[in-house]
Amino acid sequence: MKTIIEPFRIKSVEPIRMTTRPEREALIRDCHYNLFALDADDVLIDLLTDSGTGAMSSEQWAAIMRGDESYAGSPSFHRFRDAVTALMPFRHIIPTHQGRAAEAILFSMFGGKGRVIPSNTHFDTTRGNIEASGAQAVDLVIDEGKDPASEHPFKGNMNIDKLEACLNEHGDAVPCVMLTITNNAGGGQPVSLENIQAVARTARAHGKPFFIDGCRFAENAWFIKCREPGQQDRSIPDIVRDCFAPADGMTMSAKKDAFGNIGGWLALNDDTLADTARAHLIRTEGFPTYGGLAGRDLDALAQGLSEIVDEDYLRYRIRTNEYIIERLDALGVPVVKPAGGHAVFVDARSWLSHIPPTEYPGQALAVALYEIAGVRSCEIGTVMFGRQPDGSEQPAAMDLVRLAFPRRTYTQSHADYIIEAFGELAEMRDSLTGYRIAWEPKLMRHFTCRFEPLS
Ligand SMILES: *Cc1c(COP(=O)(O)O)cnc(C)c1O
Repeated sequence: MKTIIEPFRIKSVEPIRMTTRPEREALIRDCHYNLFALDADDVLIDLLTDSGTGAMSSEQWAAIMRGDESYAGSPSFHRFRDAVTALMPFRHIIPTHQGRAAEAILFSMFGGKGRVIPSNTHFDTTRGNIEASGAQAVDLVIDEGKDPASEHPFKGNMNIDKLEACLNEHGDAVPCVMLTITNNAGGGQPVSLENIQAVARTARAHGKPFFIDGCRFAENAWFIKCREPGQQDRSIPDIVRDCFAPADGMTMSAKKDAFGNIGGWLALNDDTLADTARAHLIRTEGFPTYGGLAGRDLDALAQGLSEIVDEDYLRYRIRTNEYIIERLDALGVPVVKPAGGHAVFVDARSWLSHIPPTEYPGQALAVALYEIAGVRSCEIGTVMFGRQPDGSEQPAAMDLVRLAFPRRTYTQSHADYIIEAFGELAEMRDSLTGYRIAWEPKLMRHFTCRFEPLS
């Protein structure tokens, strides 16, 4: 059979509250055209993020009941640690409440004024933690990774020549090398196994520890299996183990590829570093056998890790993106290709070319998509990145709209509905107008700023 079905049945459902277009036009106007201000109940299909928004399986809910809330030495921790090390055999597994807590601990040890930390592309919380420590976060993704039209199979790869140059230039100021798989801030694009190993070799040659931000490790392994020569006949767990084997540790948001609604961890091989990290953990998160989590969360994650490497799941997961991208492409909607792991990215700047970047074409598209269909997406462009530290306003590198898919949450008819909405938008895109920002806070303005339509 050729049809790729959702590889699950639905046992518990959550009704969607239907709204009409006039209702949505009023709701978004009341929110000053900022989609973050909407109540989730006023959204039909919520593609704001894939973080912590997925559905847990019946076995995960059963694991919740198994959770043990002992303060120290809980069996839930042992099940969690064993599930992590079955895939990522690091010596020390330190649970945290989210990925950013693991980052905060890591960079309390590796950050600091004057230091330089290279990666393919640092995720924004990673960058935030590095910069808060006084260090500089440097992005060294390959050039293809910055070109929406490039069909390179591994657009998340690190540019090894640039990494080498960075290590030569900054020498002792580089405390470690990082790599994000998949490259979230770069469109969920994967990193090849060959590139992971090359980054590790380069780091080792310079005597630097190498850490992986592994948030979407299973999606990345699926891309390696499908796209990298010689990997087709290997199992996903084997590929995952190969990815982490050359690393000295990892940070993880379990809200991504562990099927969790909350959770994360920091993994380390070095005993002395692990002692320092645990001391920090006790001060900020909790005792080392629960970190920032309840025992029941640890059990749900242990179960989730055994499900996320399932090939039927990963095939369906990635196929959802490919399917939407193929249909949008056929409608003439410019999308970032090839399909990444967790989201579809629409190039609003080129599709709404009559709206200049300083009038936020991504925001115009995201608002129109909500008004027409009740679909919530996220502008990733000049609203998010346009305000410069000196107060000036510059167009971002790209004006994209991200449709991020929660895991195991929506079905093919939801995908078809989204495609139909883009068909409607294609008819009326010339009539869409830009926005101006009427009010904004000093930092991270996209979450709370207020817009006014320019008509
Ligand atoms: C989500 C994410 C993080 C941060 O994790 P939180 O659980 O949201 O704190 C870090 N890196 C990447 C690549 C992510 O996608």
